[in-house]
Amino acid sequence: MGLVSLADIGGPPIEAVALGALLVAGLVVAGVVVLVVFVLRDVRRSREDKLAETPCPACGKPVRPGRNYCLSCGAPQPPAEADDG
Ligand SMILES: [Zn+2]
Repeated sequence: MGLVSLADIGGPPIEAVALGALLVAGLVVAGVVVLVVFVLRDVRRSREDKLAETPCPACGKPVRPGRNYCLSCGAPQPPAEADDG
């Protein structure tokens, strides 16, 4: 009669299981991070596009908010209007 320990028979080694789980978890996290970054960039971009529709009073070309002068004709831009009333 011999005693056989459980470790001798089997199952996958715990290190391999842990490594696999870690790898899958890492891939999932990386995927989620990339997805979130892309969504956030898209949202910010669309907001900027909406804000960008400020025509230059001199030449009518769209000027980005925050610019002090028009990139097309160099005319100074009025300060951004406050939505206060
Ligand atoms: Zn202009």
